[in-house]
Parts: sequence; structure tokens; C-alpha cells
Amino acid sequence: MLVMERIEPHLDWEQIDTVLLDMDGTLLDRHFDDYFWHSYLPENYALVHDLDVDEARHRLRREYERREGTLAWTNLDYWSEVLGLDIPELKRRVDVLVAVHPHVFDFLKFCREKKKHLCLVTNAHPKTLQIKMARASLLPYCDQVVCAEEIGLAKEEAAFWPLLQQRLGYDNRRTMLADDTERVLEAAHRAGLAYLIHVARASSRTTVSFSRKYPSIIFFNELLPRE
Ligand SMILES: [Mg+2]
Repeated sequence: MLVMERIEPHLDWEQIDTVLLDMDGTLLDRHFDDYFWHSYLPENYALVHDLDVDEARHRLRREYERREGTLAWTNLDYWSEVLGLDIPELKRRVDVLVAVHPHVFDFLKFCREKKKHLCLVTNAHPKTLQIKMARASLLPYCDQVVCAEEIGLAKEEAAFWPLLQQRLGYDNRRTMLADDTERVLEAAHRAGLAYLIHVARASSRTTVSFSRKYPSIIFFNELLPRE
């Protein structure tokens, strides 16, 4: 059996004063999103358009693939219009599945205690953010929240990061980013962000997938200093 090598994180918290955190898959269980986009939405789309569910799933997957890594992908208004369904309303119907990953709150508390500047940086649309934060109260821990739409680019795009830095005023050499999408880490890396952490367990229902390039964690307690 092939066991994939894992790069262990070694953070010196004295060297870090800003912590940038992704939301979906990083702080929140991606199971909600996977279930919504790949099961719940195709079922509803099939009903409305009188299609077989597999055919609906196939059609939607093609639509998703064309827009992955772009802002359109996360824009709920865009999808509502294209698919003829009220996407925010459908999301609200299954919001019971919104869940915070284990150990996230301990990590957020640690960052607050250590007076780190904490910022949620997400590709999620403001309406998605609102739906999720109504179920998972992460916002009281965050100093700032930035939705990619405000920057005008997705986090996968290299030009996103200098614009974010201008907006938040952090020092790249003293900033950490945790994200479950390797392309986002790559873009941040190109912009000179010093501490990059890959979240290898984005969903509680899928297998752990370590990055080959960046230090990976399964749970956030791995970033806390050992007693
Ligand atoms: Mg993510």
C-alpha cells in the first residue's frame, strides 16, 4: 500500500501576528457543500425540470466544472438565475448540516488569547456566509471578514493576494494562511505569504488528502503549541 508522505507543520507563534483562515472545508465541514451541490441541488433541479436525477447531476457537474475557481462558482444569485431555483432558500433548508470541524474553537480561542489578528478570508458569497454563520458562530472570534467578491477576484488568482494585503495591511513575512484548496495556497505562496497550512480533512465524509507541497494538518489542535 502506498502511504503518502506528509509534511508536518512547525510554527513559531512568536513569528506570526496575522492569521488568515478559509471557511468552507477549513473551519467548516465541507460535507454541507458536497451534499448540497452534488445531491440536494440535483434532486431539486431534476424535479423542476422533469429529469432523471443522474441526468440532472451530470448536467450540473458540467456547469460546475466550467466555473470552478472563479467568483461565478460561489455566486448564489448567479446560480439562482442560471438554474431557475432559489439557491439561498434551498441552502437554508439543509443548513442543519453546517458544522464546525473538531478543535476549531480551541484554535480560535488560542489565537485570541495570543492577540493574533484573525481574519476569515472566503470565496463564499455574502449570502452563503450569512446562512453559515447563523448556524456556526465563528464571527465573534474574527477581527475581520473578507468575501472574495469584495476584492473582485477568487482566492485561486495570484492577483487576489496583493489586493488583500493592501486592504488588511498585514506583513507577508508574519502571516499564516490555512486553506483546504492547494491552488489557493499556491497563489498566496506566489504573493510571498510566509506560513501556509493545508487542511487535509476538508470533509468528515471523505478521505484525508495530504498536500505534497505544503505542511498539512487534519485537525487544528496540531497547530497549538505542545505543552
Ligand atoms: Mg475551502
